[in-house]
Amino acid sequence: MVLCYIGLGSNLGDRQQYIKAALRKMKSLTRTKVRKVSSIIESEPQGGPVQGPYLNAVVELETDLGPYQLLAELQSIESALGRVRTTVNGPRTVDLDILTYGDVCMEEEALCIPHPRILEREFVIVPLKEIAPQIIEKIKKTRKPVKKVLKKVVRKVVKKAVTKTKLKKRTG
Ligand code: ADP
Ligand code: MG
Repeated sequence: MVLCYIGLGSNLGDRQQYIKAALRKMKSLTRTKVRKVSSIIESEPQGGPVQGPYLNAVVELETDLGPYQLLAELQSIESALGRVRTTVNGPRTVDLDILTYGDVCMEEEALCIPHPRILEREFVIVPLKEIAPQIIEKIKKTRKPVKKVLKKVVRKVVKKAVTKTKLKKRTG
């Protein structure tokens, strides 16, 4: 099994329902197990046409799917949830990006891993740091540092992640 991180985004319709539906579909993916889910945050849209704010989250999963198979599965989840590609960086019901796939580094247009824009996107860094702070350091080694100060685009936490420690009953 390969450990992967997936970035989720939604800024159309009932955004939280789209994020949750995408999560459910990822949980039922073949040869794949969802291990952790970050809090859901709200962020300002970046680039593209004038559009509403996004909800974002990051998921940790383990998979036996290859990187292209995983991409294809994620794209079919996007389509099943009504994603229509109009303009670049345009509004979307749900966007699923592979942030990292094990230690794989690849630079193809159809699949670039680690995702090339992680370090310039506060809306990815914040939820990723929450569930996997060590991954950020790893990515910094493979990607050029971001020169300018990271733009603040995260507005608030919309739904806090449920962590295992919180679920554990206190004893003694
Ligand atoms: P974006 O996520 O950049 O807003 P899209 O979701 O429309 O745009 O993806 C455009 C293309 O990016 C996809 O068709 C896919 O082949 C490619 N792509 C390259 N690297 C990745 C990655 N790490 N995760 C997801 N898609 C990727
Ligand atoms: Mg995408």
